[in-house]
Amino acid sequence: MDRDQCLALDAEDPLREFRDEFVLPEGVVYLVGNSLGALPRHTAERVRRTVEDEWGRQLVGGWNHAGWFDQPLTAGDRLAPLIGAGPGQVVVGNTTSIAVYQAVAAALRLRPERRVIVSDTRNFPTDHYMVQGLAGLLGGYELRDLSEGRFDDAAVVLLSEVDYRTGARQDVPAVTAAAHAAGALIVWDLCHSVGAMEVDVSGADFAVGCTYKYLNAGPGAPAFLYVHPRHQAAAENVLSGWYGHAEPFAFETGYRPAEGVRRFGVSTPHVLSFAALEAALDVWERVPMELVRAKSVALTSLFIELVGDRLELASPADPERRGSQVSLRHPDGYPVMRALIDRGVHGDFRAPDILRFGFAPLYIGYADVHDAATTLLEVLDKELWREEKYATRLAVT
Ligand SMILES: *Cc1c(COP(=O)(O)O)cnc(C)c1O
Repeated sequence: MDRDQCLALDAEDPLREFRDEFVLPEGVVYLVGNSLGALPRHTAERVRRTVEDEWGRQLVGGWNHAGWFDQPLTAGDRLAPLIGAGPGQVVVGNTTSIAVYQAVAAALRLRPERRVIVSDTRNFPTDHYMVQGLAGLLGGYELRDLSEGRFDDAAVVLLSEVDYRTGARQDVPAVTAAAHAAGALIVWDLCHSVGAMEVDVSGADFAVGCTYKYLNAGPGAPAFLYVHPRHQAAAENVLSGWYGHAEPFAFETGYRPAEGVRRFGVSTPHVLSFAALEAALDVWERVPMELVRAKSVALTSLFIELVGDRLELASPADPERRGSQVSLRHPDGYPVMRALIDRGVHGDFRAPDILRFGFAPLYIGYADVHDAATTLLEVLDKELWREEKYATRLAVT
């Protein structure tokens, strides 16, 4: 497909109006929305309002009068449709790592007779690290890797819907059914699927995810935790902070959990970050997710086609089995990516040899994909990555 054909596809793209709702620097093809989503145009005004009008004028009254106190639940209800959940099932706050800890600990307590935790050692390491810390604290748990392929005797299975490194996508209903058939509970990590495709966790026990990737809520934006209604009365929050207490302002000596998903609150919400999340959700409320997924499949497939067999594909070739990202292998992946970024095409690098490209359908178009692939092929063909300055590693790759 040539560039003019790509421009024609952009012209008839039903999502094209969303492109203007994001701020992107001139001359940049931003393929890192799977790590930090782009800035929605009206976020600055929304955050300014919270800073100047709410904090500046209402001061501490903002907790009552600007809705700050209930943010973990009101934001959760707004986010819920993006993961196939209903009202009162999602709480927002803290970080994904903390939510993983809460969800896995709650699941273990619901399966006290079992002593096995199944996790995926290839998953984003923090999930696995949190489980290691939890298992170490509790003692007596066996950590089993997903590659063993067995859920028997498992108390809980913790998996990502889309793998951060390869973009491989799990079959959520099938794996959930297999975990349940084995008597285990399942916790889904949605960091790399929410906002990139239709997600449905309504059959799962718990789910977690971040809002700063495809959801575009900004650096350090809060995470979310979903608890299935069937567990809400019995599930316990081991991080029993005052925000999950039945009456935080009773200041009682003993912890008494709130009803429903509110009990999974831990501490005071990050109000300024919530303002940016609210702005991001304003956009999502108008987005038809089936169009996002269809365009995502088209963009990733086009990129793979244009790169051809020049580099080994680390992502599944079948778009059904792939998230919204394409990963390619190159032994000198790091300098290759630095050379690309220098030419305006932003992807990232994941050790040891993965070039990662995320395609956020709200602000990436077909011509962008064409430009990115052309630049990548040029960097490879002319060996532009061999320049000395691309060899030194920066802190964040
Ligand atoms: C991005 C990501 C995280 C991020 O965790 P933080 O606590 O926000 O640092 C966790 N898990 C997965 C699978 C991720 O992709």
